[in-house]
Amino acid sequence: PEDVRVYEFAEACGKSASEVITVLFSLGMMVTKNDFLKQDELEILGEEFGIEVTVKDALEDVNYVEDFNEEIDKSNFVTRPPVVTIMGHVDHGKTSLLDKIRSAKVAKGEAGGITQHISAYTVEQNGKKITFVDTPGHAAFSEMRSRGASVTDIIIIVVAADDGVKPQTEEVIAHAKASGCPIIVAMNKMDKETANPDMVKSQMAEKEMLPIDWGGDIEFIGVSAHTGDGIDDLLENILIQAEMLELQADPSSKAKATVVEATLEKGRGPVATVIVQSGTLRVGDNIVSDTTYGRVKAITNDMGQPVKELGLSETGNVLGLNDIPTSGSVMVVQDSEKEARDIATTRAEHARAKELSKSTKVSLEEMSGLI
Ligand code: GDP
Ligand code: MG
Repeated sequence: PEDVRVYEFAEACGKSASEVITVLFSLGMMVTKNDFLKQDELEILGEEFGIEVTVKDALEDVNYVEDFNEEIDKSNFVTRPPVVTIMGHVDHGKTSLLDKIRSAKVAKGEAGGITQHISAYTVEQNGKKITFVDTPGHAAFSEMRSRGASVTDIIIIVVAADDGVKPQTEEVIAHAKASGCPIIVAMNKMDKETANPDMVKSQMAEKEMLPIDWGGDIEFIGVSAHTGDGIDDLLENILIQAEMLELQADPSSKAKATVVEATLEKGRGPVATVIVQSGTLRVGDNIVSDTTYGRVKAITNDMGQPVKELGLSETGNVLGLNDIPTSGSVMVVQDSEKEARDIATTRAEHARAKELSKSTKVSLEEMSGLI
C-alpha cells in the first residue's frame, strides 16, 4: 500500500493530482502529490470517487520473497552442508575458536593460505562439510532476520568457562531463541585453571538454556581454542544437528546467496563475501543484490584461490558489483544484465522516493504545528 503515490493514484483513475489532494484535505489529511497513500486513505478515495481500489505490490516481482508454502520443484534437491554462526560475549573467544577450527581442519599443504582471519569458511569433518560464519554483527544479523533470509542453520553460543554468562551472552541467547535455529553451547577456555563449566551450565539454565545432562535439550561442549580440545566433539555435534534439520536445496536453480560482508577494495572494486543458499553461483552470472548489480567478474574461495563457481553453502568473495551491497542482503542471479540493473534501479528509486516522502511529511507536520 505504501507503494502508491498520490499522483500515481490520480493517473491510474483518470483524476488530477489536485482533485485527490483536495478530497483528502477536506477530510483533514494533508498530502502532497509525491506522498505515498496509506491503506485507509486509498479506501476513502475509492469511496469518494466511487471506484474499486485494489492494491498490488509494485515491487512484487523485484523483491525476493521466500515462501516455503509456494510450490517448489524439489526433484533436484540434494542435501546441503549446514551454515553455522558463532556468537557470544566479546573476548569469550569467537575469533580464536573459528581460527583454531580452520587451522585444525584444513589440509596441511593449504595451511599457508590461512594465516589471515576471514569471516566465513568451509571445513570438512568425517567427509562432511560445515560452513562457519563469524558473528555478522548484531545489525547485520537482525537485518538478515527481518528479511526472512537468515543464512544461519545452527547457532553456537560461545561462553568463556572462566567468565560465565555476560550481558552480550544474554543478548545472543535472545537472538538465538528468536531465530528458531538449534543452539549448541561451546564452553571455551577450558584449558584455564579457573574454568568452571558447572557455573556456566547453571547460569545458562537460569536463562532457560538447560543442558542435556541436566534433563534439558541443549548440548554443552567444553572446548579450548588454544589447545584444540573438544573441537572434534563440537563439529560432530554440529553434524548431528544438521542431519536432523534435513537441509536441502537445488544446486541447478538460479543462484541465491546471502551477503555476509562487503567492502571496497583498492584495485578490485566492491567485494562481497557471500554464502550460497541455493543454486550455483558462477563467473559471468548477472547479479543483483539490494540496490547494487553487475556481472560476476571473478570469484575467490575461502582459501583465496580463484574459482569458477560456488556451490551450496559454500562461501567466497564475489567481484563485479557496481557498488557495495548491504550486509544481510540477498544476491540473486538474473537472466540478463538489463534485468539485474532494472531491479537495482527500481529499488534505489523506491528507497529514494520513500525518503523524500518522509521529509515532506515532516515539514508538513512542522507547518501544521505553526498554524
Ligand atoms: P572474541 O572477542 O570473542 O572474538 O574473542 P577472541 O578470540 O578475540 O579472544 C579473546 C581473548 O581470549 C584472546 O586474548 C584469546 O587469546 C583468548 N582466548 C580465546 N580462546 C581461548 C582459550 O580457549 N583459552 C585461553 N586460555 N584463552 C583464550
Ligand atoms: Mg572476534
